[in-house]
Amino acid sequence: MENKLRIMSGMRPTGKLHLGHYLGVLKNWVNLQDEYECYFSIADWHALTTKYNQTSDMRQNVQDVLLDWLCAGVDCEKSVIYLQSLVPQTASLHIYLSMITPQNWVERDPTLKDLAKIMKDKQENMSNLSYGLFGYPVLMTADILTFNAHLVPVGIDQVAHVELSRDIARRFNNIYGVNYFIEPKPKLTQVPLLKGLDGNKMGKSFNNDIKLSDTSEITQKKVMTGITDRNRIRKDDKGNPDNCEVIYDYWKIFGSNEDLAMVCDGCKNATMGCAECKKRLAQKINDQLAPLREKRIELESDMKKVDEILHDGSKKAQIKAQEVLDGAIDVIKMYK
Ligand code: SF4
Repeated sequence: MENKLRIMSGMRPTGKLHLGHYLGVLKNWVNLQDEYECYFSIADWHALTTKYNQTSDMRQNVQDVLLDWLCAGVDCEKSVIYLQSLVPQTASLHIYLSMITPQNWVERDPTLKDLAKIMKDKQENMSNLSYGLFGYPVLMTADILTFNAHLVPVGIDQVAHVELSRDIARRFNNIYGVNYFIEPKPKLTQVPLLKGLDGNKMGKSFNNDIKLSDTSEITQKKVMTGITDRNRIRKDDKGNPDNCEVIYDYWKIFGSNEDLAMVCDGCKNATMGCAECKKRLAQKINDQLAPLREKRIELESDMKKVDEILHDGSKKAQIKAQEVLDGAIDVIKMYK
């Protein structure tokens, strides 16, 4: 592991993950594991920044996310899988980084700006935003710098967060006249964007997602609700896959070239109805999720072991985090 570049990434414990998480994040992480030294965090402190008063499901949500990661192939033998709050070195580093980060750097964070706008539109009191939430861009920086990570796999919409981390790392180095923190770079990956079955953004709260933990029957039921070519009312109407708002997009992700040719032919010539098309698609998705479901059965039979994976990973993360924190403390010349 020593000579590999380090990667750090994380996810809030929002509960059971859906296909969008799988295709957009987890598959990418699984691919990165062999080439990089990876640290993957379940970011429970970040969950508190907005849900500090809704913690009753926190432990369950952590477990659900962990199970989904493991089922998807995130491997504790190859990567360090940890819980953010079990690595307190991150909190210590967060304090030191908070001291050197100008307030206006934090205020320019796009997510905070969006939140502030939403609250203003809803005429909510800005004082409902907590001190912890304002500090979350610095906490995110601490997550990355705690491992002196070289790369952060992100989508294009999160590049600004990594930019801030680079700025803070550079500022630390400049203030103390060292070259201690690596300036982390975003690692952009092209991932397919999966819409929700109703054509909107896929999300748990919109009830339009397919969860990795859904059974094959539930998956089929959900796929049957997917939006199609709205002009194709009856089976003998000829359809157009290009106007099929959701189902054909799913085919493009889950089907082979032969499948796409079969669907186009059946749709354009009205030899295959939308119900049949969706059933076949559901079968494709279920086939691809079958290994994950098998793995879930195995893992759920021993949840103690699953819990140990998180604790063992967090201990491993602490070792690297302590090393980096000790170095930072030396640089700042804090008392030891
Ligand atoms: S047959 Fe398939 S591709 Fe064509 S409109 Fe129906 S669901 Fe969409």
